[in-house]
Amino acid sequence: MGARDFIGSLFLRELFKGMAVTGRYLFARKITVQYPDEKTPQSNRFRGLHALRRYPNGEERCIACKLCEAVCPALAITIDMAERDDGSRRTPRYDLDLTKCIFCGFCEEACPVDAIVLTRIFEYHGETRGDLYYTKQMLLAVGDRNEAQIAADRAQDAPYR
Ligand code: SF4
Ligand code: SF4
Repeated sequence: MGARDFIGSLFLRELFKGMAVTGRYLFARKITVQYPDEKTPQSNRFRGLHALRRYPNGEERCIACKLCEAVCPALAITIDMAERDDGSRRTPRYDLDLTKCIFCGFCEEACPVDAIVLTRIFEYHGETRGDLYYTKQMLLAVGDRNEAQIAADRAQDAPYR
């Protein structure tokens, strides 16, 4: 210990420095949020619960290209592909296991038709593992309920894509 540190310790310099920090925060504006009555601002790129989207005419966007399934690092997505009478590709099965998902957003980025998206929704839960296994119908229902917000969020990002 140098002489300077020794003198500092005699006069409790570190203690007073610590007290000064405490004092500064004692009178600073409080940043504690009273959740759930109050909420912090959210980015339009927030990565919450997934949704499958439809076109305005009600047609499902997903064309079963399987890019999201291939890119998912957690192997959380399972898709089956089927051909419709008109020759277009559609998916009869789109399962997403949220217990595996790490919310990286790769599926959303890989999708060429904006079908799978991550919404702002984070207030959901499951009481069994099965509750967090989302089927295509569940994902479409999330999309249907939140389409206005999803479209607005994506429009905000359009210049950067
Ligand atoms: S957010 Fe990431 S981990 Fe989750 S399903 Fe999409 S690609 Fe997979
Ligand atoms: S959600 Fe998008 S990336 Fe995934 S299979 Fe459907 S069209 Fe392809």
